[in-house]
Amino acid sequence: MTDRGEAEEALRRVGLGERLGHLPSQLSGGEQQRVCIARALINQPPLILADEPTGNLDAVNEAIVMSLLADLHQRGHTLILVTHDPSIAARANREVRLEHGRLAQGEQPGDLELQGVLVELWQLLEEDRAGVSIARRGVAQLLAESLLAFADGKIGFTDRGRAQAVSAVRRARLAEVLLARTLSRGLLAECGREAPVAAGFEDQVCAFLDHPAVCPHGRPIPPGADCPGPALLEPAAESSE
Ligand SMILES: [Zn+2]
Ligand SMILES: [Zn+2]
Repeated sequence: MTDRGEAEEALRRVGLGERLGHLPSQLSGGEQQRVCIARALINQPPLILADEPTGNLDAVNEAIVMSLLADLHQRGHTLILVTHDPSIAARANREVRLEHGRLAQGEQPGDLELQGVLVELWQLLEEDRAGVSIARRGVAQLLAESLLAFADGKIGFTDRGRAQAVSAVRRARLAEVLLARTLSRGLLAECGREAPVAAGFEDQVCAFLDHPAVCPHGRPIPPGADCPGPALLEPAAESSE
């Protein structure tokens, strides 16, 4: 309404230069979606929220919309995009999964250092029953994020912290089994130091490896929700010898 030239420019950028005189009802779904993007462009917003931007689009229009969004991202706009399509999600720098409206247990990809700290603390707190001090690497941060908490004067995992640590331990130990079995790779001295199996692939890797109960160091691998049952997953050490 205030700047026709700017509006026309935004519509041209999304490939609708030939449609300037059309009514919304005369545009296809893909074109309407591109108008939405043009509208988002006008104010140069630093943040764009896109709820299923490719939801009802055919493959061609999906590609057009995604390349427009990628272009916006290149120009410095931050995009928060909701999608059910894993191939769309895979294009994001960061993926946050929701399950039934709640943050899925899980992690930010690339957050290897946090993963390593969680694995370390899991060993100390849950397996070796040792205490940790607040001065230890990462502990203060995890307390601040409520992944750890004080109970009876001792530092321990919160439920959320425990869930994240179990997932991190599982992925790190599966990676050890994977490397040891498939590459006959020499064992690292310390457990949990291998780069973990990528988040989201642990179930496939676990199944591929026949749901190993322990890592090459003999430490138990926590089962996932879809592992075939507790029989396979008890730590093997006690009864086998
Ligand atoms: Zn290990
Ligand atoms: Zn499994």
